[in-house]
Amino acid sequence: MDELDCAVIGGGVVGLAVARALALAGRDVLVLESEGAIGTGTSSRNSEVIHAGIYYPEGSLKARLCVEGRHALYAYAAERGVPHQRCGKLIVATSAEQVGQLEAIRMKAAANGVDDLVQITAQQAQEMEPQLHCTAALHSPSTGIVDSHALMLSLLGDLENAGGMLALKSPITRAECTDRGIVLIAEDGTALRCRSVVNAAGLCAPALARRFEGLPASAIPTEHFAKGNYFTLSGRAPFSRLIYPVPEPGGLGVHLTIDLGGQAKFGPDVQWVDSADDLVVDPARGDGFYAEVRKYWPALPEGGLIAGYAGMRPKISGPGEAAADFRIDGPASHGVPGLVNLFGIESPGLTSSLAIGAHVARLLADA
Ligand SMILES: Cc1cc2nc3c(=O)[nH]c(=O)nc-3n(C[C@H](O)[C@H](O)[C@H](O)COP(=O)(O)OP(=O)(O)OC[C@H]3O[C@@H](n4cnc5c(N)ncnc54)[C@H](O)[C@@H]3O)c2cc1C
Repeated sequence: MDELDCAVIGGGVVGLAVARALALAGRDVLVLESEGAIGTGTSSRNSEVIHAGIYYPEGSLKARLCVEGRHALYAYAAERGVPHQRCGKLIVATSAEQVGQLEAIRMKAAANGVDDLVQITAQQAQEMEPQLHCTAALHSPSTGIVDSHALMLSLLGDLENAGGMLALKSPITRAECTDRGIVLIAEDGTALRCRSVVNAAGLCAPALARRFEGLPASAIPTEHFAKGNYFTLSGRAPFSRLIYPVPEPGGLGVHLTIDLGGQAKFGPDVQWVDSADDLVVDPARGDGFYAEVRKYWPALPEGGLIAGYAGMRPKISGPGEAAADFRIDGPASHGVPGLVNLFGIESPGLTSSLAIGAHVARLLADA
């Protein structure tokens, strides 16, 4: 049987960031990715926003790793020439009742270490974005956008420079947790005995963990899937900053993001589904977008929205339940030496990726 120091299952942005951090810490790392390319999962179906870290419960992993990850990501992107833009975002109140919520959001952000939010008047907001309609707004100057594929290629380059490797078309089907390491079994029957294993399989992470013999079932959360549908705007983007309404339960509301090519898109919305593969956008869902968007952009033309793409949130809390925190479960939480399971790495997972990598490397420092 082949022996390996460290295997990372999953070549999305988080798996690659974890693999890079482990390789830079001196570990021999192999990334095992089931598809024929890196980043074809949730990592290529998101908004590519560098989140400031505003909305998450104080002290949560999401709050901590988003702020830490955001700082690390801006520095990394600048150093490596990964395309990004600190474009800023406006969180807009469109009714008098919502204005009160802005202060609550500002205070929550401050508790998370995001101390640069400034409340502005409707007039100030309109001076920044002439087409915007609002009652008041919060300006977040440290929100931005990043080219997620360029980021993943750069992480892969770092991994390989540090001696790590990537194996594509290498789905792992099960594992045995033994006294002498974790034995991973690939679909073709290949067995690999590893000192450390990181399960970064995204949407599949809980299902894969269930096939780890020796890992207690109580250590594995139930997965839920919340699809996020996007509708793209035909024509020029009307705004130069990201525009978010005040948040709604389960998501951030129908917001507008722009990409580095200047294309504007609205969404993602929240649609609970049974299968992680349900990624087709129903054009009829766009009907509900018009009214929401016109609350802050009344000039949205009829027929201006085109069904775009969808991403799937790897949830570990169900509809109506409080949003779960990231779960980064090391040996201390499940009792299997050398194993880290990453569960529920939904947004802000892209922003947090470098910080998650550092966190996992610390968890496995003695493994
Ligand atoms: C709609 C939406 C919008 C989002 N917007 C943002 C945003 O703007 N900003 C932000 O910070 N975050 C955002 N996120 C979150 C972010 O996209 C994710 O947190 C991040 O991409 C997760 O990366 P990952 O590597 O954990 O998972 P993935 O990208 O899903 O990667 C998992 C990989 O594991 C592989 N795999 C699965 N099973 C196996 C197996 N058995 N063997 C081998 N390989 C396997 C898959 O093929 C896949 O490549 C968004 C998410 C969604 C759904």
